[in-house]
Amino acid sequence: MSFTPHGKHLIAGQWVSSAQQFNSTPANGDAFSFSVGSVDLVGQAVQAAESAFYEYSATSRAQRAVFLNTIADEIEARAEAVTEIGTSETGLPVARLEGERGRTCGQLRLFAQHILDGEYLDRRHDQALPERQPLPRADLRLIQRPVGPVAVFGASNFPLAFSTAGGDTASALAAGCPVVVKGHPAHPGTTEIIAEALHAAVERCAIPAGVISVVQDSGESFDVGKALVEHPLIKAVGFTGSLRGGRALFDLCAARPEPIPFFGELGSVNPMFLFENAISNRGETLAKGWAGSLTMGAGQFCTNPGVAVLVKGEAADKFVTTAKEALASVPAQTMLTDGIADAYRSGQKRIAASAGVREVLSTSCDLRDATPYLYQTTAKEWLANEALAEEVFGPLGMIVIAEDQAEMLAIASNLEGQLTCTVHLDDADIDAAKRFMPILERKAGRVLANAFPTGVEVCDSMVHGGPYPASTNFGATSVGSMAIRRFLRPVCFQDIPAALLPEDLK
Ligand code: NAP
Repeated sequence: MSFTPHGKHLIAGQWVSSAQQFNSTPANGDAFSFSVGSVDLVGQAVQAAESAFYEYSATSRAQRAVFLNTIADEIEARAEAVTEIGTSETGLPVARLEGERGRTCGQLRLFAQHILDGEYLDRRHDQALPERQPLPRADLRLIQRPVGPVAVFGASNFPLAFSTAGGDTASALAAGCPVVVKGHPAHPGTTEIIAEALHAAVERCAIPAGVISVVQDSGESFDVGKALVEHPLIKAVGFTGSLRGGRALFDLCAARPEPIPFFGELGSVNPMFLFENAISNRGETLAKGWAGSLTMGAGQFCTNPGVAVLVKGEAADKFVTTAKEALASVPAQTMLTDGIADAYRSGQKRIAASAGVREVLSTSCDLRDATPYLYQTTAKEWLANEALAEEVFGPLGMIVIAEDQAEMLAIASNLEGQLTCTVHLDDADIDAAKRFMPILERKAGRVLANAFPTGVEVCDSMVHGGPYPASTNFGATSVGSMAIRRFLRPVCFQDIPAALLPEDLK
């Protein structure tokens, strides 16, 4: 291995080790020893972040853009080693790690460009009206200002794009906020090499060292994550992970003496609604496309389309058969951790044991492997059993057969919040789909037509969020340039002399 991790935390520019160590559990290749995080280290990191805040938040947008671009350069400079350690730890294929690295660097560069444009500051000015009757109006200027130190939780399923220098970190740094990252125990070596890239960028750009700290964690207790979100100097949290973990952290944030926003991107089954003409005309292509999307990356995407809803009939039967055949040919894939593989199998058993559920494709997998499963149920059973709508993280598909369009619409109306909802339709389905759109836009952060939701474009118009439980904050996105907005707060400056205004308002 060309990169041998030293196993230390990065605390405000210093590589620090702890007496207590844990071993990584790679899918393949060598395990390494890493320092276990502690409440004390979290305290040091957060204090350093607060100390760096005023200087960093006063940097110009041009300086921060250079910093973000330099982080991307430093990650690219380590490209091969990042892929090597990333594939070893996660079991994800080389192409996925390379693609994810491109996305992570592209995201940093997009955010750099975005802050240079300045539109995100949403600057507003109501000029003074001293002669106004019956009362004069003051001079009022609004601008978005950085909130303070931000906590970021590395995500198991995106070792790069949602971890150490991923979307949450990039958007907080773009906003002008220092960041303390809690590394995910599933990929500590990947966390470390990206921390090295961040550290190098901090030094090259002469950014205050406290702006970025990375605390490794063994995952054996929740102490580090808990201490991080409860630290009084932390002002917001970025998180991607399970509904259970996210909800626990959200509740901790809300229960603080000073509650803070928790931007959690949690679970979703991302339902697809297949309309009559689309399914009759191209059901086979849709079934094969669905199988591909459902099994991509062993189904470990938050946008994995776990549920297909369609009206009964010959075309629906053919869809089921084709999906079964396509899924049956997908070999076992390695999951991110033993725990995620166990959770997948428990979820599969829960679905298999549910009343009114028919097994279409049953496979068998053990250890850290996942093979696809396919189940079928009726709209009536689905509507009667809320548990069927709970996410199974992995390549498991559920086909829901409705008696008619009205039942399909009832399923849409009963959905919980989703990251995505998809319609597959032909021109002749447009009238039928019109009734769905007002419902689906209330349910999801992103509504798609004739596509599969895996593969989230990083751009200005993207929304990767949605009503609870897809996310804990429906006004936000964790992908795309609007993600920066999460770590800003509007401040109105009334009659403040120009010399005292923030640079961006002068
Ligand atoms: P997770 O269990 O939600 O953990 C994510 C992070 O939250 C970890 O750093 C974990 O800390 C922390 N955490 C979890 N519960 C906590 C609690 N009660 N108090 C404080 N901190 C807590 O997610 P995961 O480890 O990535 O994977 C486990 C399961 O999450 C998977 O099986 C899958 O079902 C789901 N998942 C879903 C998505 C999605 O996008 N929908 C993405 C990833 C995972 P520790 O490191 O200390 O454990």
